[in-house]
Amino acid sequence: MQTKTEAAINIAFYDAKSYDRDSFTETNRSFLYNIDFFDFHLNPKTAFSAKGYKVVCAFVNDVINETVIKILKECGVELIAMRCAGYNNVDLKAAKEAGIRIVRVPAYSPHSVAEHAVGLLLAVTRRLPQAYLRTKTGNFTLDGLTGRDLFGLTAGILGTGKIGRTMAELLAGFGMNIVLYDPLPNKEWAESKNFKYVPLEDFFRNCDVISLHCPLTEETKHIVNKQSLALMKKDAIIINTGRGALIDAHALVQALKKQEIGGAALDVYEEESRYFFTDWSANVIRDDVLARLLTFPNVFVTSHQAFLTTNALSNIAEVTLGNIRDFYNGGKLENEVKA
Ligand code: NAD
Repeated sequence: MQTKTEAAINIAFYDAKSYDRDSFTETNRSFLYNIDFFDFHLNPKTAFSAKGYKVVCAFVNDVINETVIKILKECGVELIAMRCAGYNNVDLKAAKEAGIRIVRVPAYSPHSVAEHAVGLLLAVTRRLPQAYLRTKTGNFTLDGLTGRDLFGLTAGILGTGKIGRTMAELLAGFGMNIVLYDPLPNKEWAESKNFKYVPLEDFFRNCDVISLHCPLTEETKHIVNKQSLALMKKDAIIINTGRGALIDAHALVQALKKQEIGGAALDVYEEESRYFFTDWSANVIRDDVLARLLTFPNVFVTSHQAFLTTNALSNIAEVTLGNIRDFYNGGKLENEVKA
């Protein structure tokens, strides 16, 4: 039942899409907050729109830097509720100094992301996008569509948290050998599955498929770069459903041009915030790296779609609104992110 406190809470919801409105409106039936959905991003130009709101709800491509946090503080914002797992776009130090608390959704469905990553992998190894375009136009030829069995190949999982572990188990189901890299290994799980942690250099050298599942940090930024690409097998496939900046996209383009790697399946891109989630089909893409990536027959791009399942959306709405309730009810803020 709605409490007095809940009724009084105004939430400014940024970068709202139709599926967000649907899932949050449905879930809010049992919370009854006042949610105003804004189509635009939160950034230094738009942050003043938070005036009169105690809570800001933001997503992966909103900008929550020091400037934005100062403005939010002036607007009276008390809580930033991230409706995602990653928080690399939030200046945690500035938020702490401003006394604004940050909450997030640490896990909503690791299956949603891992299953999409498997889909991306099959799209590249079995040339499904090309096959789709051909049969749609009545071209039923097979030349150029020769694929590769996953069975017996070695898959490397970089980051063995919730999503990485799910991905490892899915790929093991194809009969792939699984190797892992994580500075904080989950040895018990790996032993129980007969998977093996290896040093990073061996990881890059020996994998046929490399799937990225670590958070974006100072340490992991461009973990796939010119040097690591040079270590990889010439036919290795890279899958990135983590964060765009895990890969140095310039270096990836060079490696693809020189045919030094086998292909890439990308759900995220370092400079995605300008393009992803937006219809650019009638505009000129000015980002030459993105435009070049889209031209390769062995690259498949989706626009940060891996989380987008009905299960994940309703979990995200439930946990986000629950985080806000915990904050105002003085309960333990289990999903708080601290500097
Ligand atoms: P998690 O916190 O459960 O696991 C992350 C793992 O990465 C941890 O085991 C951690 O030890 C490991 N790690 C940290 N630094 C590392 C390094 N230098 N090298 C290798 N591993 C390292 O996170 P999760 O729920 O599995 O999510 C992983 C990432 O997936 C998130 O941080 C987010 O960026 C991304 N994500 C993307 C989507 C999408 O729609 N594409 C959706 C959800 C999450």
